[in-house]
Amino acid sequence: MFEELKEKTAFISDMDGVVYHGNHLLPGAAEFIRLLEERNLRYLFLTNSSERTPRELAEKLSRLGVTVAPEHFYTSALATADFLSRQKPGCSVFAVGEAGLANALYEKGISMNDVDPDYVVIGETRTYSFERLEKAVRLVLGGARLIGTNPDLTGPTENGIVPATGSLIAPIELSTGSKAYFIGKPNPFMMRRAVKRLDAMSRETIIIGDRMDTDIIAGVEAEVDTVLVLSGVTKKEEIPRFAYTPKYVMSGLAELTSALA
Ligand SMILES: [Mg+2]
Repeated sequence: MFEELKEKTAFISDMDGVVYHGNHLLPGAAEFIRLLEERNLRYLFLTNSSERTPRELAEKLSRLGVTVAPEHFYTSALATADFLSRQKPGCSVFAVGEAGLANALYEKGISMNDVDPDYVVIGETRTYSFERLEKAVRLVLGGARLIGTNPDLTGPTENGIVPATGSLIAPIELSTGSKAYFIGKPNPFMMRRAVKRLDAMSRETIIIGDRMDTDIIAGVEAEVDTVLVLSGVTKKEEIPRFAYTPKYVMSGLAELTSALA
């Protein structure tokens, strides 16, 4: 039953609800990463959050007890920087976000501009203020295009739910009448970029995630086989409510690791 799965050589995996949940590692995560390393398989961990840099994500996993090099992470901030540098090389942006976003933009040669930028880019941030909101609104009304790193309305933290990019950008959309374009999942752009980053072909690749409306739909739309794991937000009985279906459904990374063994 898992013969096709065993032939995959490139693994793209969501993190929250798959690898960890808050501050604890999920069963099978360490073994899964060990198997990928031992077999020299290509892999990338994807997150829709634009807050952390790949280095910070590597540090988070290391605190949880697993070592993964920074190049194995792909965030919505990196995808946003990829998108903007392809759409308009050498563009300038007014960005509201944290280190993950600022570093990603800088690495792609995108400059900061709070006078007449090509884009206003919003990501997760802890330094949201009326002043920045006011500036973003004025710049969008002046012709800057509005980009969100990811459409998530909320994000999980150790202390509970916090507002995420989708909620933070809503006041700018409402004030300007402009609709933001979002780069992160479920936009298949992020999945396709991840596949390219692994230098893999779609048929060699598998996407692992815990959400039907982001991970699985993005995989389906990018024409990559998908594994839905039930270790996160989705319950088995919810699957038939969606028009699309994952190729495999598993309890979590422990089951996937034994299927690959
Ligand atoms: Mg998840």
